[in-house]
Amino acid sequence: MILHPHLSVNSQGHLTIGGMDTVELAREFGTPAYILDENVIRQNMRTYLSAAEKNFGKGALPLFASKSLCFKEIYKIAAEEGLGIDCVSGGELFTAKSAGFPADRIYFHGNNKTDKDISDAMDMGVGRIVVDNTDELYAVNAEAMRRGTKQGILLRITPGIDPHTHKAVVTGSVDSKFGSAIETGQAMEIVKKAIACDGVELYGLHCHIGSQIFDIYPFSDAADIMVRFIAEIKKECNFSIRELNLGGGLGVRYTENDPHIDYAQAISDIAKVVTGFCNQNGIEMPQVRLEPGRSIVAAAGITLYTVGSVKQIPGFKNYISVDGGMPDNPRYALYQSRYTALIANRADAPRDFRATLAGRCCESGDLLGEDMDIQHAERGDILAVLVTGAYNYSMASNYNRIPRPPVILVKDGNARVAVRRETYDDLIRCDV
Ligand SMILES: *Cc1c(COP(=O)(O)O)cnc(C)c1O
Repeated sequence: MILHPHLSVNSQGHLTIGGMDTVELAREFGTPAYILDENVIRQNMRTYLSAAEKNFGKGALPLFASKSLCFKEIYKIAAEEGLGIDCVSGGELFTAKSAGFPADRIYFHGNNKTDKDISDAMDMGVGRIVVDNTDELYAVNAEAMRRGTKQGILLRITPGIDPHTHKAVVTGSVDSKFGSAIETGQAMEIVKKAIACDGVELYGLHCHIGSQIFDIYPFSDAADIMVRFIAEIKKECNFSIRELNLGGGLGVRYTENDPHIDYAQAISDIAKVVTGFCNQNGIEMPQVRLEPGRSIVAAAGITLYTVGSVKQIPGFKNYISVDGGMPDNPRYALYQSRYTALIANRADAPRDFRATLAGRCCESGDLLGEDMDIQHAERGDILAVLVTGAYNYSMASNYNRIPRPPVILVKDGNARVAVRRETYDDLIRCDV
């Protein structure tokens, strides 16, 4: 096993994913290519669903966060596994609709939905719109009134988790572009406004405190603040909140320095806070939603590249250049995210070469990692970057007019194309 149980090395010394030889996958599908182990994705979805139902009760539902990985087939998998989804744009909604995803299990997010987004979402019949602010509340209300319908909504609330005590947590603080803060009184204000609107039905509240969080305390603190707020709403407005969406954000092991997380245990720990408070205070237990993205798909994916030039600059660094880079994985350029990389065709050799992994763009920031411990590399080797299932394909661009790689799903010894490789013709399709 390398980092995760579905990654291993076979008798030829080749890296395998879900038991399949990555060197053969590279030969069959070309490089760069995203490879995803479908069984891992399904297993993670099942873990979330069963842990949510077990700890929060039957109506609990995990929603797969589209922004982490979005293409039609992933929605079919989520639908088959009985999950809901969250979408944050018209494009994600359209993709979900094209895949036949049941609209009533879609939660529509975003801090600045356009009028067209709102009307597209209502055309589709999305179950809930997660309303960010008062302007948006009134826009949703007006559109629903115009149609003579009532739109189910949640309100996005910022619980005010202090980012100084929890550094990884950045979207749940008062000063955020997302949601309405409890601390400033704006959250209670928007709740009252929503209750008074005839075109919306307020089902509940949403919060999302950040991403790649390993510690359980930011989540249980946020859950505690949210249920206390639910109790306050009951007292002040005599109104029952029926849904509580606790967002996503559980961390994933990218390198050997990251811990393993037991997601079922984490969900159980968070549930204790919510059920404990509700029981003690006579609050009816809301139906809970969770919104995992990264923790469902990140570990399932790897990216395969072919090594081009290997440069050793005496007294400085070693560079390994590959046939991809920031267009298929912008995360190092954006956040200096750490990854694990291997030479897939010599995966059992010692990782005793320290190198910076460079892409092929005309941009010195086009790196996949610096000072990485990897095997000695030479031109023609297959290089694998691990744990790239989340926020890689979904963040990919055509910078330098580089076509996007295909997405290949492997399952039980079979590999199939879920998204084909872009062609040069695709690149000029919109050019007039
Ligand atoms: C990004 C995001 C998620 C998913 O976060 P992960 O860290 O990928 O689990 C869920 N909900 C909202 C509102 C988000 O913005």
